Amino acid sequence: MNRDTAQLIVCHDCDLLQREIALKKGCSASCSRCGALLYRNATDSINRTLAWTAAAFIVFIIANIFPIFAIELQGDRSVLNLIEAVSSIWTQKMQLMSLVVFVTTILIPTVEMLSMIYLLSSLKMLRIPFGHIMIMKMIRVVSPWGMIEILMLGMLVSLVKLTSSFKVILGLALWSFGLLTFLLAAAAASFSARHIWNLIDKIGGMKS
Ligand SMILES: [Zn+2]
Repeated sequence: MNRDTAQLIVCHDCDLLQREIALKKGCSASCSRCGALLYRNATDSINRTLAWTAAAFIVFIIANIFPIFAIELQGDRSVLNLIEAVSSIWTQKMQLMSLVVFVTTILIPTVEMLSMIYLLSSLKMLRIPFGHIMIMKMIRVVSPWGMIEILMLGMLVSLVKLTSSFKVILGLALWSFGLLTFLLAAAAASFSARHIWNLIDKIGGMKS
């Protein structure tokens, strides 16, 4: 990249203004003063993030439909999935808790995954999706509030406690949540907002 036409980039940690340089695939650039990560040249970011997110969404549906675990007590078996767990917390007069669990483990992951699939599949077809600025902002705001990983930990802890008093049968959803944790981590690792903005600029430039 020519020094005069190179873009300037500001470090979000120490505000140092630096010139952007082209990176090899898979490499990252750090701030020359504080060492904070400035940007990455994520390998095939759009395709990989789309593939991981689509796989995560399918597994997420399975995780919500099938039982997490079943408990057997004196021959009676009670089966529980995530939505039933949320509504059972609600009926036990813990509405706020039920709402928090619903928002962080069902609503936000659904909205985030669907927006990501819509955004990335449009870009892949070289179309700028409707409302892309709002979607990008929303993904940034909501993503820290998706708590599938915390839910997974919570389920494992309660499982250990339950097995001491009941016969517990593990359900398909429990394995699905485990797999989901890895898929979401892979999607987050291949996601690059900078890559998306660059592609949006490029598509915009082609159409004008
Ligand atoms: Zn810095």
